[in-house]
Amino acid sequence: MVQKKIPMRQCLGCREMFPKRELIRVVRSPEGTLSLDFKGKAPGRGAYLCGKSECLKKARKSRAIERALGVAVPEEVYEQLEQQMEQEGAHGE
Ligand SMILES: [Zn+2]
Repeated sequence: MVQKKIPMRQCLGCREMFPKRELIRVVRSPEGTLSLDFKGKAPGRGAYLCGKSECLKKARKSRAIERALGVAVPEEVYEQLEQQMEQEGAHGE
């Protein structure tokens, strides 16, 4: 049997490693715009958050996403992230 390697990525808030698909991905498109990527397949450079609201707060405060992607993060992107995390919390996962 071939063991599949699970791609791991680091959360920018808590700095822990998680399986890529459990993380929320913020992607910078080749055009330089930021968006949330729910399928993990959008082209471009990604930054990851594990979905805890405190990690979002930490990443926001330390500008970790800006530093990881090299672009300014618009307020809307943080708002989308907040909404996404609230939704995930509501589903109890
Ligand atoms: Zn985290």
